[in-house]
Amino acid sequence: MADPDAQSNKNTCKTLLLKFGGTSVGSPEAMRQAAAIIQEERPKWERIIAVVSAMNGVTNTLIACAQAALDSKNAEYQEHIAQLRQRHFEAIHALVPQELQEGLCAVIDQQLGTLKAFCDSIQVMGEVTPRGMDTISSLGERMNAKIFSACLQQIGLRSQAVDAAGLIVTDDNFQNAHPLLEQTCRQVSAKLLPLLEQGVIPVVTGFIGATEDGITTTLGRGGSDYSASLLADCLDATEVWNCTDVDGVMTADPNIVPDARVIPELTYDEMSEMAYFGAKVLHPKTIQPIVTKNIPLRVMNTFNPSHPGTRISSQSSALRGKLTSVSGIKNLSIFTIEGRGMLGVPGVAARTFGAVAEVGASVLMISQSSSEQSICFVVPAEVEEKVQAALLRNLGGEIERGDINGIQIHSDVVIITVIGSGMRQTPGVSARVFNALGSRMINVIAIAQGSSEYSISLVVDSQDAKLAIQQLHQEVIINGNKPTQN
Ligand code: ASP
Ligand code: MG
Repeated sequence: MADPDAQSNKNTCKTLLLKFGGTSVGSPEAMRQAAAIIQEERPKWERIIAVVSAMNGVTNTLIACAQAALDSKNAEYQEHIAQLRQRHFEAIHALVPQELQEGLCAVIDQQLGTLKAFCDSIQVMGEVTPRGMDTISSLGERMNAKIFSACLQQIGLRSQAVDAAGLIVTDDNFQNAHPLLEQTCRQVSAKLLPLLEQGVIPVVTGFIGATEDGITTTLGRGGSDYSASLLADCLDATEVWNCTDVDGVMTADPNIVPDARVIPELTYDEMSEMAYFGAKVLHPKTIQPIVTKNIPLRVMNTFNPSHPGTRISSQSSALRGKLTSVSGIKNLSIFTIEGRGMLGVPGVAARTFGAVAEVGASVLMISQSSSEQSICFVVPAEVEEKVQAALLRNLGGEIERGDINGIQIHSDVVIITVIGSGMRQTPGVSARVFNALGSRMINVIAIAQGSSEYSISLVVDSQDAKLAIQQLHQEVIINGNKPTQN
């Protein structure tokens, strides 16, 4: 069934992978919308695969069940389980043909039976392992894939629910498992391809996988996006559509910047940078599996499917000097280590970051002056005290000798990042950024730019963060991108 128009470097079958997030499959009305998108696309593609999340909020409720069991709050987890049962039963009754309802309700009861058994034993043992947590939190996707697949059947499409525990093979790093690509692709070829060849639409559970021994794992919270790109990679998909409840990736957080707008096109690099800097649209690892094969990813709104959304690919339509977005990460602390004695002394940076690593803190930004007389770095506020103690332990000698004058901490800062591959090799971009802030008397505490030139990050006091983001959005993104400028 080769398509003569298909690009030759790809699988010759036109393959669309649609991922539906929790809100898109969180109620009967939403599921109908999601199903309508698939129905509309069915004739246009040779192969269609859907990946679904749990209904919105369900994963949180499952985790709350385990927590209640740990706290010996038996009535509380029973109550949660009853609510989960009701919500899924309601969806089944609203969406599924009568003859399938009973069977499907039995499946839900079986999954919730597993949940109850786990909670009972957590309560008795007084503990829960990460492995147990993964089995518990996988249940939302497992229930929902069955329901959504039945919903597709109801509108006349051929579909089958597929448990990703038989597809996505991972290591045993429970709760944040790392997928093993080769083994995964082998499973995908063996189990998904035969369905696709028969014209069946598989509805695969997002978020979950299993070890080589078949023990359920999860890919980390929000991991369904990542599941979708992993499958897209194995299937050589033509496109991935990430169907969510917003029109696309925005130029800024609309809660901070009311006139933030949807970005029509982004490069993979820009998107990776945004995911890292708290854009919260996609799981940070989503881009990685689709880059090599250059599979475009569209972020779109299930409830407004005619809006084109944001297209993420290797190509950028961004013009030189144009920037795409501004975002911020809150609740951080910045450390500055200063001292004339640091000049040319090897090992100070190594020991500084060794100390930070010792306490398991991740560093979000680093900058060092070329005079080598100061190093500063940013960590989450919650690890501030631990980091301080570790630094005093590790650099005690230098501090005593006076080679290091001291460790300064500025608590409650925000990292603001301006992103856009248009800044590459284009002079004047940082000048615009700093002018925008300077004109409003906003003090910049530290600056970093990676040599990849996709982003500039700056640290400001949290009191200045909102104005700084608004100002940068207005001056650098909106005004800076006006076509009259060059
Ligand atoms: N249901 C999972 C979560 O809430 C995965 C996802 O929705 O992507 O984290
Ligand atoms: Mg998500």
